[in-house]
Amino acid sequence: RAKDMGRNAFQFFTSAMNERAMERLRIEGDLREALQRGELRLHYQPQVDLRSGRVIGMEALIRWQHPELGMIPPGRFIQLAEELGLIVPIGSWVLRTACSQSVAWREQGLGDIRVAVNLSARQFYQQNLVATIEEVLTGTGIAPHLLELELTESMMMNDVEHAVGILHELKQLGVQLSIDDFGTGYSSLAYLKRFPIDLLKIDQSFVRDITLDADDAAIVLSVISLAHSLRLKVIAEGVETAAQLRYLREHGCDCMQGYFFSPPLPAADAERLLREGKHLADGEARVVMLRR
Ligand code: C2E
Ligand code: MG
Ligand code: MG
Ligand code: MG
Repeated sequence: RAKDMGRNAFQFFTSAMNERAMERLRIEGDLREALQRGELRLHYQPQVDLRSGRVIGMEALIRWQHPELGMIPPGRFIQLAEELGLIVPIGSWVLRTACSQSVAWREQGLGDIRVAVNLSARQFYQQNLVATIEEVLTGTGIAPHLLELELTESMMMNDVEHAVGILHELKQLGVQLSIDDFGTGYSSLAYLKRFPIDLLKIDQSFVRDITLDADDAAIVLSVISLAHSLRLKVIAEGVETAAQLRYLREHGCDCMQGYFFSPPLPAADAERLLREGKHLADGEARVVMLRR
């Protein structure tokens, strides 16, 4: 019987594999055109200062509005963009678009909103990253401290000496540097000290069970105290509940980002949120976002 099933299972797998391969081929072809066709979008997720309750920044998160497949999340095409060598032009588009958006918000009287942009490894090690960033700063007119570049531990541990050099050059431009998904890569505390960074973003996997799991809570508390002793600010990612928010605020976390306050929003909705503010009250977890 197993043998009979085996044959069906084999057919099942090959057709599933074919479908996956077909989808990949299709997406691959379409991705080459997506940028020129204007199918890429940025959504913006607010970052809230836990002391003042104000939105101080927005993380730019890319989406691909595919004409037939609908909205494709970055998890399904960033890796491919890296492999196809498309990440550098796409990444430059993200940088320009996010910086222009921050300038537009400022011109609309919505204040100084920092934009955080994710860099991929390929982009980080590209020859002219620093020149590209410099060009984006002057081209869009954004104040350099309003651009935050998000890097990952593994990206920097790849070639530490080189990374430290690039980070110093970027810092000289006046931009802010953060480590994304902190705690999920293999970081070395000795190196952390050498990286001229401004912020640590605690990965959402540690935040998720912070009020349920003593180990996760211990990790988050150590990251907050480690960051503060290195004079870094901390942002908690993936905050989904009032209880998580309360815990983080009580334990000195500086900022939060997550569905509890807002999911990533299209630019027009992000603008409305900045304009109208948003009142979130839940027991003691009182986050009030005010207009500037
Ligand atoms: P990330 O930079 O760590 O971004 C956070 C991800 O968590 C985003 O997923 C965001 O939508 C999601 N998220 C935010 N709040 C919550 C929450 O409360 N709960 C949960 N479960 N998730 C939350 P998204 O937008 O799908 O992005 C996934 C990853 O793709 C990003 O992770 C980042 O590594 C990468 N990415 C996004 N945009 C870009 C880009 O422009 N360039 C590059 N190179 N990578 C990007
Ligand atoms: Mg990020
Ligand atoms: Mg992250
Ligand atoms: Mg990530």
